[in-house]
This record gives sequence, C-alpha cells and structure tokens, in this order.
Amino acid sequence: MIEKSRISEEDLAKIRHLIPGPDPVVNKDARFIPVADTRLDGNELSYLRQCVESNWISSIGPFVGQFEREFARAVGCEFGVACSSGTVALHLTLAALGIGPGDEVIVPAFTMIAVPNAISYTGATPVLVDVRPDTWNLDVAQLEAKITPRTRAIIAVHTYGHPAEMDEIARVARRRNLHVIEDAAEAHGAEYRGRRVGSLGHAATFSFYANKIITTGEGGMITTSDEELAGLARTLRDHAFSRERHFWHSYRGFNYRMTNLQAAVGLAQTERLAQLVGQRRSNARLYTELLDTLPGLTLPRECREGQNVFWMYGLMVGEEFGCSRDELRARLASQGIETRTFFIPIHFQPAWFDQYRSQRYPVSESLCQRGLYLPSGATLTEADIRFVAEAVERARRR
Ligand SMILES: *Cc1c(COP(=O)(O)O)cnc(C)c1O
Repeated sequence: MIEKSRISEEDLAKIRHLIPGPDPVVNKDARFIPVADTRLDGNELSYLRQCVESNWISSIGPFVGQFEREFARAVGCEFGVACSSGTVALHLTLAALGIGPGDEVIVPAFTMIAVPNAISYTGATPVLVDVRPDTWNLDVAQLEAKITPRTRAIIAVHTYGHPAEMDEIARVARRRNLHVIEDAAEAHGAEYRGRRVGSLGHAATFSFYANKIITTGEGGMITTSDEELAGLARTLRDHAFSRERHFWHSYRGFNYRMTNLQAAVGLAQTERLAQLVGQRRSNARLYTELLDTLPGLTLPRECREGQNVFWMYGLMVGEEFGCSRDELRARLASQGIETRTFFIPIHFQPAWFDQYRSQRYPVSESLCQRGLYLPSGATLTEADIRFVAEAVERARRR
C-alpha cells in the first residue's frame, strides 16, 4: 500500500542540522550554467528519423537489439537487456535472481533512493552499510558485519562515477555465497583494474536518464555474461509472453520495455561514449587544478585501481572554507550557477525512516551535511569551468 511517511518533529530536530536547506533559486538573468546537460549532436537525429520513416517506434524495432549489443560490447559483457529505466533494471535483475520476501540485500546508506526502493518492490529488505570517506562508496570493512543467513546479494554502487572496490566485495561475496550486482547508473565507461564497470559482478544495471553520462531520455539496461539470467530478464521485461503460445504466461512479468526511439538515441550515444567520458574527465581535471589550493575543500579522488568518470564533480565544504555548503550554493546560484547537494542518506529519508530508526552512518551523514556538486555536463566549456571556479573562490572571501 502506498502511504505517505513522515518524520516526527522530535525526530527531525535530532537530524535537522545534517540535512541540506531548501534549494536556492538560480538567477538565470545573465549566464545560466546547469548542473547537467546533454549532447545530442551525433547520429541521434538521423537514427530517430529512421525510426519514424520506417514506422518502427515500439520496442519491436531493430535499434533495441543493436543498442543492447553495442552497449554490452562497450562494457565488456556478453548480453544487454534494455529496459525503461535504471530503477526497473535493478528490479528486473533482482527478480530474475529470484530475490523476494524474507531476503536481504546490502546497499550503501549513501545512495540514490531508487536502490532501496527497487529492492522493496521484490518484497526483500535493504540492509545499509556506511561508505568510505575517500571514494564515497560502500565500505568493505563494514560489509561482513551486516551479512546474515538471509542475505542474498550486495548492490555495489559506483557513486558519482568512482568505481567501488569490486575485488574486495567479490571476495566477501564468494566466501558468503552472495550475488554481486553493480549499480553503474552513474559510471558509464568507468574502469576498475583495467576492466569496465558493468562487467565486474554477476550483473550490472545502468540508467540512461537525461542527466546521466549517456542518455536515452529515460531508459536503463542490465549487462551480464550469464545467458540464463539475461534470458529470464528479457522474458520478465515483456510480460513473460511464452514463445509457443502468445497469451500464455508462466511468470507474473512486467512491462519494462524500451522503445525503438529510445534505443536509437542510445545507440548514437554509445558510439560517442569515449568522447563523453573524455569530456567528463577533462572537466574534472580543470576543476581540480583550479580548486586544489582553496582551503577547506575536499575534492573528488581517483583511487589507484580505478578510473573515475566524474559523472558529477562533487566536493565537500569543510569548516576552514569560510562559508557553509548552503551559503556557497546560494552565492553560486545568484550568479546563475546551478548545484546540487549530495544524497540524503537512506536512513534519514521520510519514506524509510522507521525501518532504520536508531541506526547511524556517520560518513554518509557528513557527506550529506557538507557535499555538493558543481555543473558537470557534457556541454561545459573551459570558460564555464573557470567562471564556476572563480565564483567558488569569490564566495569564500565575501
Ligand atoms: C539515476 C540512478 C538510478 C535510477 O535510474 P533511473 O533511470 O532514474 O530510474 C539508480 N541508481 C543510481 C545510483 C542512480 O544514480
């Protein structure tokens, strides 16, 4: 049953100082720099025209299979299963793995709300683990303590484009006989020990929402090299129609299909994945060069084993910076610069609060209290980045 959840005033009073204030209004009078934007100037339009001219716009169109094959190849996996969002890609993966009521799935406390929600759609329970202060990803040292006889899987999220510690996670998972699912919604093209994320667990999920590194407007994909899993996910995606008798269903499936129109855009975007990732990385390099000397800022890192794709250029505002995170956001907004705060951890969410009452995740909480990300999209120019970095520097002196 859908129910609106609330946090009592008393509970809220205890955590209010950790939760961001309301988003400032961005002044768009002069120069507006959005936090993310898309580039659709490759083959997107020409492929879309082919869809319309050939009359193939539904999910039964040739671009869906082509996009699945090309994207899976780009990731280094055998199979891709395109679907209508990153959230349903997670649900579909969990469902195809047979995860359901009574099961537990481990996720970072610091992540996007779709992750625990997708687990709950199966009837299983999300179990939270805090994240590391350096990579902002699941802290493997705290993982084993959260495993119970009911645990079935770990969802490793590559937060803001930085790969999670997949070898260490895989080691624990092997020992405890658990599935590893990568949520790579924020990390298209990222690498870990020379391999692409999306190919490092049993299965991975991607989102192609408009602000992600490659987009189909709305969309998602499962990547895996497990043929059986891919086949079952494909069946469940499409109402589990049976092959031999059309309106005959052995599973209660879903309609999680992607349209040919979305796949046409996705294929064109996949063709330029390297370029889009290169742009994110060069944006980050320049930001770091310009912001590195400012006191009180913690800038995003890249661990030795991985290649961060900096989906969003996130930073933490510490005491010495000179103004608070929310003040910095307000000052940037007055100059047309849009920012976002970091995720509010799952155990603070009204929709999940009761489930995790009394649990605390200090690193996730401090990221929530101090983190924000700067404009990070694919159309940023060097001048835009310099303008943003100067505005950050001015904000602390004001
Ligand atoms: C965006 C995102 C999702 C959800 O993807 P949608 O396509 O919006 O459903 C899931 N997990 C993470 C980590 C995300 O960033």
